[in-house]
Amino acid sequence: MSRDGRSRTRTYAAGALTLLAFTTACGGNGGGGSAAPAATTAAPAAPQSAGTAPAAAATTPGTAPAEGDAAAWAKWNLKPLAPAPAPPADKPIKLERTGTVPVFSDVKTNDKVVFITIDDGAEKDPKFVEMLTDLKVPISMFLTKDIVKNDYGYFKPLQALGNHIQNHTVTHPVMSKLPPEKQKAEICDDQSALTQQYGTAPLLFRPPFGDGANTPTLNSSVQQCGPRAIVLWRESMQIHDMQYQTGDKKLKSGDIILAHFRGPKELKGATMTQMFGDLLARIQEQGFSVARLEDYIQAPAS
Ligand SMILES: [Zn+2]
Repeated sequence: MSRDGRSRTRTYAAGALTLLAFTTACGGNGGGGSAAPAATTAAPAAPQSAGTAPAAAATTPGTAPAEGDAAAWAKWNLKPLAPAPAPPADKPIKLERTGTVPVFSDVKTNDKVVFITIDDGAEKDPKFVEMLTDLKVPISMFLTKDIVKNDYGYFKPLQALGNHIQNHTVTHPVMSKLPPEKQKAEICDDQSALTQQYGTAPLLFRPPFGDGANTPTLNSSVQQCGPRAIVLWRESMQIHDMQYQTGDKKLKSGDIILAHFRGPKELKGATMTQMFGDLLARIQEQGFSVARLEDYIQAPAS
């Protein structure tokens, strides 16, 4: 099956955000780790005539997307991803109201699903909002206050699609280098800003770079600010492919994938939507669907 016969639409956002010295990776090496070429030569567009949609039914019997959905995927030069199964009634991860917060990088499930998390919030590409509105792929957003505060509004239509907003500190520091009171300020101030802006208190926290996740100090700081879990990841999306933590370079059921809001400057010319489309293609070719992380997590009883 060809994976490169897709045409790519290049939309270099004029005046792409150049601010932010701290748009670099929050985990793994920042976009330079992929062996994939920086730019893919545009191939002739595959014919996307109306009426080709039912082809997807051959590989996903009973779960073929509606024809309108197939057209939406075709608009982005993608094949429809198989819909995720219904969320489990008995959540694999159950969070408690008090005490030590768990640290996890995947979810124990036999569902053939993975979870996409997108961090920081630097690139605010309107095309990505359009893409997610079309495709309805669930994501979780770990937002850093100082990176998003110039345009909190950008993330609201993404939230309105059912996507949750989670805590990723105020300034994106290396947490283990901070004393407890500064850790607490980083988490609590992001928590209050995001709660005020988006109307819901983040349930999850991700430390920048994954640093300090398993230290008692950070765990205590998180506990004092409200989030009830520390979320890491198994794979990290680069530009065209993922960086894997395991040698077999294969997704597993329940894996949490880290990606970033990034643009051409960080992606060697590729756009956010190209990066995300490639991520979906990598997930699809391994036979997985994308589910919503929060659908597999039980929040503490109130
Ligand atoms: Zn980050």
